[in-house]
Amino acid sequence: MHQRRWLPILAVLLALIAWATGARAQEDPWRAARQRMVSQQIQARGVEDARVLQAMERVPRHLFVPPAWLASAHADHALPIGQGQTISQPFIVAYMTELLALKGGERVLEIGTGSGYQAAVLSLIAAEVYSVELVPELCQEAAQRLAKLGYANVQVRCGDGYQGWPEAAPFQAIMVTAAAPEVPPLLVEQLAPGGRLLLPRGPAGGLQFLVLVEKTLDGRLVTRELDPVRFVPLVGVPPTGQ
Ligand code: SAH
Repeated sequence: MHQRRWLPILAVLLALIAWATGARAQEDPWRAARQRMVSQQIQARGVEDARVLQAMERVPRHLFVPPAWLASAHADHALPIGQGQTISQPFIVAYMTELLALKGGERVLEIGTGSGYQAAVLSLIAAEVYSVELVPELCQEAAQRLAKLGYANVQVRCGDGYQGWPEAAPFQAIMVTAAAPEVPPLLVEQLAPGGRLLLPRGPAGGLQFLVLVEKTLDGRLVTRELDPVRFVPLVGVPPTGQ
């Protein structure tokens, strides 16, 4: 008799537990995939900065890839995002972010917003992110996506990244996510003393290397060539009137 009275309570309890577990899983069913991505692709290749690892684990990468590529959202390679452009491989995003050596208070400029993924990762580490994208469709989509996901410290501008973002300069860090044959001079100008600029340098479709330019406190430039990479080209925009 006594035992039976507990049955409805037990049933309600079990239902509650099932609901809570389901709700948690529904909240973020991609979390495990991100954790695997971070440990197997990023930490395994030597990225150590805790801020970077944490940001890579937090940003919902699956919301930055086109629905058709959802199943490969965390795969170990770049993916198409439309307009002939790509979202970089997770490791490259993490590695390049680590190379900027951000501590948290920086104003960062990104050239080549693309999907907005790299900007989102930067925004969890730096104070402010300014990102410029040339292709209007990508630019608008990324701006909407970032706003909807609550990345309030990111601003996106549709325009030519070769010009940088002079009104918001100087930047303590600048990251270019498309390859240019040379370091754009206006970007170097907009780099703060003590700041770091990272860019894939090389011809479109050819041999490119990541290049890290450091501006010393007295304004000198120290340039280091790092690893070979493969990026879509930074498209040159002819000056108006030509
Ligand atoms: N960082 C992006 C991936 C960038 S792919 C991400 O996280 O998804 C490179 C991007 O640079 C493309 O979207 C391309 O349209 C853009 N791009 C190319 N030339 C540019 C230019 N001159 N100014 C601004 N963006 C440019």
